[in-house]
Amino acid sequence: MSDFSLDLNEDQLTIQKWVHDFAEEVVRPVAEEWDEREEFPWPVVQEAANIGLYGMDFMANALLGDPTGLTMPVAIEELFWGDAGIGLSIMGSGLAAAGISGNGTPEQVMEWVPQCYGTPEKIQLGAFCVSEPDAGSDVSSLRTRAVYDEANDEWVLNGTKAWITNGGIADVHVVVAAVDPELKGRGQASFIVPPGTKGLSQGQKYKKHGIKASHTAEVVLDDVRVPGRCLLGGKDKLDEKLARGREAGRTGAKQPAMATFEATRPAVGAQALGVARAAYEYSLQYAKERVAFGKPIIMNQAIAFKLADMKMEIDAARLLVHRAAWMAASRKQFVAGEGSMSKLKAGEVAVWVTEQAIQILGGYGYTREYPVERWHRDAKIFTIFEGTSEIQRLVIARNISGLRIE
Ligand SMILES: Cc1cc2nc3c(=O)[nH]c(=O)nc-3n(C[C@H](O)[C@H](O)[C@H](O)COP(=O)(O)OP(=O)(O)OC[C@H]3O[C@@H](n4cnc5c(N)ncnc54)[C@H](O)[C@@H]3O)c2cc1C
Repeated sequence: MSDFSLDLNEDQLTIQKWVHDFAEEVVRPVAEEWDEREEFPWPVVQEAANIGLYGMDFMANALLGDPTGLTMPVAIEELFWGDAGIGLSIMGSGLAAAGISGNGTPEQVMEWVPQCYGTPEKIQLGAFCVSEPDAGSDVSSLRTRAVYDEANDEWVLNGTKAWITNGGIADVHVVVAAVDPELKGRGQASFIVPPGTKGLSQGQKYKKHGIKASHTAEVVLDDVRVPGRCLLGGKDKLDEKLARGREAGRTGAKQPAMATFEATRPAVGAQALGVARAAYEYSLQYAKERVAFGKPIIMNQAIAFKLADMKMEIDAARLLVHRAAWMAASRKQFVAGEGSMSKLKAGEVAVWVTEQAIQILGGYGYTREYPVERWHRDAKIFTIFEGTSEIQRLVIARNISGLRIE
């Protein structure tokens, strides 16, 4: 007898319901308002912190501490079912925390990850700063420089980061910079910029197509000085890495920023699933109620088959997301780009499903009276950030072929 099961266990079902209730009772009722205001939804994040949904303990214990890996995508799907912009405002600090956990020493993790969240009495935020105006997909070409000032044991950071979630409003900024630009990705390192550090400022705040409640801005680094202990992983490890890079030239080893994105891809897939499911559920209900030509529109195969396909695509995407999350938690190596597959499929399904939902609602779907147009705008981010759909296909293609496909 095999003990294989796709059932969620009791703990997972409890967390799923707990997050769903928060999404339904706290997030959904204010989603439209924060989308219109296009501001960081501090009161909602505060409520999430009050109940323990925003905080390091929830991330570390409930989400990442589950050996099956499934609690994380299950909880994230529910939160984003409530709203993607608010969901990202609650989850955005997790990217900085993942960058610290993935590259830092145990002491650095202990010191800085809690500061990415703060406490319910004083909420803090984290931001993970990799992308630049001329380096989004091509993260090996970062221009932000980190120069070591040996006399003072300080690193001096200069450059501009683009499209940074929580950029400029975060307390802890994790910045990836080039120490030796000639070595491309092998010459980069990640640095903590502690709260209140001089020289770090917010540049332009972007006006976005969707996920408007999430704060996205440039981060300008102008002679930012951070102590030597803020180099993630420590100086010895960096020196070894640089020496290896110089000796061996280009090797296949992953750079820190890439490793962070790879590990967080199933979580992004789960975000997309939440948006897709919201639109599917809404349009299913609408199709049963909306009458045209004397009968509910769902009685037409053209509409009913669309809904059947929407449900099937969402379930297929969820299986890929859960597989990748389970593989990551079980420390199984992604051999065919399984993390990328999960994010790629779920992101594209979210865009497609939300568009179908607008079609099912007809003229109403196209107006701001109904939430489906917002979900469609929100869904589009999932084919762009944390690796565009093209970059995910590149990762999968390189993995399955063993070739450096361009
Ligand atoms: C709302 C939002 C939040 C974000 N949050 C963060 C954050 O917190 N931290 C952070 O560091 N970054 C963040 N980003 C940046 C995001 O990760 C990048 O925008 C993304 O990686 C794409 O980079 P780019 O915009 O430079 O596009 P480009 O790299 O210029 O790509 C443009 C187009 O060319 C395609 N393309 C590029 N190279 C190839 C290739 N080799 N093969 C095929 N096609 C290719 C791309 O797929 C895309 O379609 C965020 C972006 C947005 C919009």
